[in-house]
Amino acid sequence: AQHFLQRAAAHSALGAYVDVNTEVTLAQAAAADARIASGTAGALEGVPIAHKDIFVTRDFATTAGSRMLAGYRSPFDATVVAKLGAGVAGGAPGAGMVTLGKLNCDEFAMGSSNENSAVPPVGFDAPAPVRNPWNTERIPGGSSGGSAVAVAARLTPAATGTDTGGSIRQPASFCGITGIKPTYGRASRYGMVAFASSLDQAGPMARSAEDCALLLTALCGPDLDRDSTSLDVPAENYSRSLKDSIEGLRIGVPQEFFGAGLADDVRAAVNAALAEYEKLGAKLVPISLPRTELSIPVYYIIAPAEASSNLSRFDGVKFGHRAKQYTDLADMYQKTRSEGFGDEVQRRIMIGTYVLSHGYYDAYYLQAQKIRRMIADDFQNAFKVCDVIAGPVAPTVAWKLGEKSDDPVANYLADIFTLPGSLAGLPGMSLPVGFSNTEQDRGMPIGMQLIGNYFQEARLLNAAHRFQ
Ligand code: GLN
Repeated sequence: AQHFLQRAAAHSALGAYVDVNTEVTLAQAAAADARIASGTAGALEGVPIAHKDIFVTRDFATTAGSRMLAGYRSPFDATVVAKLGAGVAGGAPGAGMVTLGKLNCDEFAMGSSNENSAVPPVGFDAPAPVRNPWNTERIPGGSSGGSAVAVAARLTPAATGTDTGGSIRQPASFCGITGIKPTYGRASRYGMVAFASSLDQAGPMARSAEDCALLLTALCGPDLDRDSTSLDVPAENYSRSLKDSIEGLRIGVPQEFFGAGLADDVRAAVNAALAEYEKLGAKLVPISLPRTELSIPVYYIIAPAEASSNLSRFDGVKFGHRAKQYTDLADMYQKTRSEGFGDEVQRRIMIGTYVLSHGYYDAYYLQAQKIRRMIADDFQNAFKVCDVIAGPVAPTVAWKLGEKSDDPVANYLADIFTLPGSLAGLPGMSLPVGFSNTEQDRGMPIGMQLIGNYFQEARLLNAAHRFQ
């Protein structure tokens, strides 16, 4: 833990951490030592981890990247944090990991570049961009940008992330690390600051599929009393089939993921990885996910709709920021929310409110829900002929800081390959498969996405591990 805290301090210019507390970390490490000495060690006892600042934590501040939650301290730990740490209160012991601190993210996890964070990183007085360690003038991806950077730059051996529409997979891809989002409902959402509740899902980000399997095993499992969408499916050991042969594995290659919008360097790296899979005994099967493009408008209706509802709780009354001066209640709400929320969050609240409003609900929200179901059905058709689906994570490598920050639609379009799996609630992962060799993007990491059918996390991790 000390080693990683020192590295985090030495590389604070990357902007990955938003809160650290050496005393707390060392106390957790001492408790881990004591459990090891007494023979009650958890599965990952004493191994350091850092959490995306969207998980509430008792011992560290929680901001969700927002001014709205500046100074907020949760009275409890998120279930995922507790399961990886000392255990859920009154429940089974946890994995025993030691928390290094909290990691930067886009405000309320809305974004693809981590440029939407309103929170100053450790060592800064004002908000500052999180920088990609492979090229510090580039974005790390988002919204779990701090998590990806901290793992890639070895400022932690592992991190948590959350993925609503790609926020684990895309930053993992942009920073050359491995990350997995499990089947929706496998990881508890209790204590995860809510963005779009029908999509939000936690998962690990680490150096390898092997590490991700250990972490996923520790953090998943039913939490029926605390999360109404938690699945009543027993926890499983995701490391069990890591080393299995992938001879005969049928890898579906969706034609829509390899269309005109895909950058040549990404196409080349993903194709090379697919060729490698063939050498490992896998069979490539051409498939079609015909509604891939529709996943963008569908997601950017459903996610803002749910966000507008979830974020109504930040009204300056119960918790969070409250405007200093106001005339009446309505004025207080308005000033509080205008001051507390950044531009992207306000944009989504407005879109969400609009698509849910009387007269537009049927035309937008209901229509989007219907297409969401069709997207899920397309995957089920595909899984009749293949075991896993492979393709790019994003159309390009990480772009330059500021390049798309004034253009929300450009950011949304870049989510095209991660959104379909999210809308279907399927498990998906990103594994590093190469680097760009073009003049402008040379050396930037490229990830490949693997999508599995429901509960096929172990198979995804197996396929990724065999490649790694
Ligand atoms: N980039 C997507 C968005 O901005 C996904 C974010 C996420 O998965 N949290 O909504």
